[in-house]
Amino acid sequence: MLSIPAENRADLWNILLKKVERYASEVHLLPVSPVLDPGAVRGYLRQFQFQYPLSPENAIDVAADGLTRWQVHTPHPCYFGLFNPAPTTMGIAADTLTAAFNPQMAAWSHNPFANEVENHVVRAIGSKFGYTNADGTFCSGGMEANHTALLTALTHHFPGFATDGLASLPLRPVLYTSSESHHSILKAARMAGLGTVAVRQVPVDEKLRLRVDVLCQWIQQDRASGLAPFLVVATAGTTSAGVVDPLTEIADLCEREFLWMHTDAAWGGAAVLLPEFGELLHGIGRSDSITFDAHKWFSVPMGAGVYLTRHPEILSQTFHVTSAYMPKDATDLDVVDPHTHSMQWSRRFTGLKVFLSLLVAGWDGYASAIRHQASMGDLLRTLLRDTGWNIANDTVLPVVCFEDPGKSPEHQRAIANLVVASGKAWISPTVIAGRTVIRACITHYGTAPDDIDTLVKALHEARAQLNLAPAFGG
Ligand SMILES: *Cc1c(COP(=O)(O)O)cnc(C)c1O
Repeated sequence: MLSIPAENRADLWNILLKKVERYASEVHLLPVSPVLDPGAVRGYLRQFQFQYPLSPENAIDVAADGLTRWQVHTPHPCYFGLFNPAPTTMGIAADTLTAAFNPQMAAWSHNPFANEVENHVVRAIGSKFGYTNADGTFCSGGMEANHTALLTALTHHFPGFATDGLASLPLRPVLYTSSESHHSILKAARMAGLGTVAVRQVPVDEKLRLRVDVLCQWIQQDRASGLAPFLVVATAGTTSAGVVDPLTEIADLCEREFLWMHTDAAWGGAAVLLPEFGELLHGIGRSDSITFDAHKWFSVPMGAGVYLTRHPEILSQTFHVTSAYMPKDATDLDVVDPHTHSMQWSRRFTGLKVFLSLLVAGWDGYASAIRHQASMGDLLRTLLRDTGWNIANDTVLPVVCFEDPGKSPEHQRAIANLVVASGKAWISPTVIAGRTVIRACITHYGTAPDDIDTLVKALHEARAQLNLAPAFGG
């Protein structure tokens, strides 16, 4: 039963493709989010104790029904959430091919094609950031890419780290990032054995950008008190508010202070494709390494992170170990075995979904999708401003933070909750620089003016409903 007989497979693929197509063409008709009821999901699953085999068709129904009923439909055009776009059609096709061919990405010799596709795509994306000789690796996502960055920076800065570990270092390493940066940095510090205390969270200015003057002071103070600064993580497109840190100033400082500069451009990095946003990411090519998430603005299915670097030796210095059992057939070739070059060992062919999406859309296709989303962000900002909401962040990227002016944090959160409960759109509350706001991000390449209208109407209904119930308001 592990393989369905060939004569039945065609039917099965048909059924499967119908489900996939039905979801893609009808997801916009579903409520964006489900009722959150763990008991209902567990009750549904309790029917399946794996004693009696189900038919393959029934099994697919179980999964497709469950996913339809119980997920936030991030591929819905009114999902205004956390950078989880609708997947590209070619990305879905690529993941299917990948599952079927199941290339093993640990050793180059097992998959010359798949490995060279990834190298090709890594260099192509790297060149967009201004890297002339980019190296890098596909990762599960931004978390792993940031973790990789931290490890490469440690390895670069403390040559004994890879073999002798942190305990061998005479001084305690510390790194810097803004208080608005992504929390994966904290987790990476923990996983690297540095502890979260090693992450110095630098305050931000009134535009929510890392304050380079404070960063500079802290580095001097930390050096004076016997710590070893080694890394600054800049953010290009913060998660809450889409803010880009002053990259050029940070690059200057890192050069002066001999620090590794990593730029976390997981989402915002894609703006590099638009000449009109050139100024925004100016200086990013001076970073020693960059996190770019293809499953964010490049809209491929999860997970597809990319770690990029302009130091071609550093990944091998960080991850190379030898083993008797790994294939040696490529030893004499000018190639790199991925398992010596990245955190993962057996790995999925992550690069294919980016390669096929790029082959079909081209850079221009991506640029126009991104430009469209930016314009939907502008439209949302305008409509909100015109109807009495206060815009709380300053960015050209399509993430809009706003508030019902003069109302309490509870009130802002209640508005977001009511919109989500309506099933019409998904948005979320967040906190920027200590202030509770409502956040709506254009993540879907297909979000249209009508969808923006739907969101704005849902917001007005929520606001009206709360104003009728003063006990709830602030
Ligand atoms: C999404 C994001 C991450 C985390 O990436 P995952 O792919 O979710 O692991 C890190 N940093 C930033 C700025 C992000 O937007």
